[in-house]
Amino acid sequence: MSVQEEIIQQTDKHSAHNYHPLPLVLSKGEGIWVWDADGNKYIDCLSAYSAVNQGHCHPKIIGALNEQANRMTLTSRAFHNDRMGAFLRKLCEVTQMEVALPMNTGAEAVETAIKAVRKWGYEVKGVPENQAEIIVFRDNFHGRTMSTVSMSSEAAYRKNFGPFLPGFVLIEYNDLEAVKNAINDNTVAVIMEPIQGEAGIITPDEGYLTAVKSLCKASNVLFVLDEIQTGLGRTGKMFTYEHEKDAKPDMLIVGKALSGGVYPVSAIVSSKEIMSVFTPGIHGSTYGGNPLGAAVGLAALEVIEDEKLVERSALLGDYFIKKLNAIKTNKIAEIRGKGLFIGIELHKSVGLARPYCEALMEKGMLCKETHDYVIRLAPPLTVEKENIDWMVEQIEEVLKD
Ligand SMILES: *Cc1c(COP(=O)(O)O)cnc(C)c1O
Repeated sequence: MSVQEEIIQQTDKHSAHNYHPLPLVLSKGEGIWVWDADGNKYIDCLSAYSAVNQGHCHPKIIGALNEQANRMTLTSRAFHNDRMGAFLRKLCEVTQMEVALPMNTGAEAVETAIKAVRKWGYEVKGVPENQAEIIVFRDNFHGRTMSTVSMSSEAAYRKNFGPFLPGFVLIEYNDLEAVKNAINDNTVAVIMEPIQGEAGIITPDEGYLTAVKSLCKASNVLFVLDEIQTGLGRTGKMFTYEHEKDAKPDMLIVGKALSGGVYPVSAIVSSKEIMSVFTPGIHGSTYGGNPLGAAVGLAALEVIEDEKLVERSALLGDYFIKKLNAIKTNKIAEIRGKGLFIGIELHKSVGLARPYCEALMEKGMLCKETHDYVIRLAPPLTVEKENIDWMVEQIEEVLKD
C-alpha cells in the first residue's frame, strides 16, 4: 500500500464522510505547486475554492503569521488589539467602503450580512416586525450553516435539515423581470453572487448587476454581493462587480483569499450608515478580528496589490481562455468565465466531469468538477504563462476525441 492509500484508509475510518475528495493526499504546497504524500508534484487548479489566490504558503503571509503568532494570537473583542484597525483600514481601502465587520468563515460573514440587512429593514426602512424578505437566486451558494442552506435551492444541501429559516424569496438568476416582480415593501435586500461559482461559473449577461442595483435603489432595497469566491482578483478585477458600470453594492461579503488560505478570515464591508445598526452587544464572534487573523489578512491584501495579482488574473485569464478555445474536440459545450475563474462545460452526452478531473490528476493537474458537467479552472493568480501552456496541453490530451 502506498503512503497515500494508508493515510486515506485511516482518515476514512475516523472522519465523517461529508466530502468525496479525489483519491490523493496533499502534504506540501508552495506557490501554484502542491505535493502528495508520495512525493508527486501537481499544479493546483482549484486554489482551495479561490482561497489561495496568492499561492500556497506565500512567504510574506506566512511571515506575518509567524511573527504575530509569537506575540499575541487572541484577545477577544472585550479589549482592543493592535492589529485589527490596520487590517480593517486596508480592507476598507481595497473595497472602497467605510466600515468593516470581521468574522472568520465565509458562511459566518453571510450570516452577519443577513442580520445586518434585516435589522436595517426594521430600524431604517420601517418594515413591520418579522416581515423582512431577502431575495436570493436559484443555484446560489452562500455556505452550509442553517441560514445559508435556507437560502439554497440545492436539494442535496437541504434534505432533512429542515425546518428552514423563513424570509428568503428564491428567484431565477440572470432574469431582471423576476427581480422586479419579487420586490415589495417588505424587501430589505437582494443577496447574490456576481458570478455563481459553485453552480458552474454561471456568468450573468452584461449589465445585469447594474440593472439589479438600480432596481434595488429605486425601491430602497440593499444590494448585497457575496464575493467570497469571486473577489480579491479572481475574475480579473479586484471585485467582479467592477466589470460593470455602477454596480457597486451597498454591502460586500468577503472571505477565502482575504487570508490567502492561511487562516479563516472573513468580513462584511459597507457604509457607516448601514453598519450603524450594529451597536455594542448586538453581534459578535470570539475569534472575529483577532490579531493573528488581522495580521494575516493585512499581509494577504498587500500581496494582492504588491504582486499586481488583479492585472495578472485579467491578462492570464484572457490568454488561458483563448488557448482553451483553440482546443479541437467535440466534448466541450462551452468555455466561460472571467479572469482566472474559468469553467469548461462538457456536453451531457460526454458524461460527468469527474473522470476527466481524475485523468488530469494523473497528469499532474488538480481540478475539481462542479455541478456534474463543469471542470473549474482556478489556479493561484501567481501562475505563469508557461504553466498555462502546459495545462492546456494536458487538457487537450484528456479531452481529445
Ligand atoms: C465558499 C463560499 C462561501 C462559504 O464560505 P465558508 O468559508 O466555506 O463558510 C460563501 N459564499 C460563497 C460564494 C463561497 O464561494
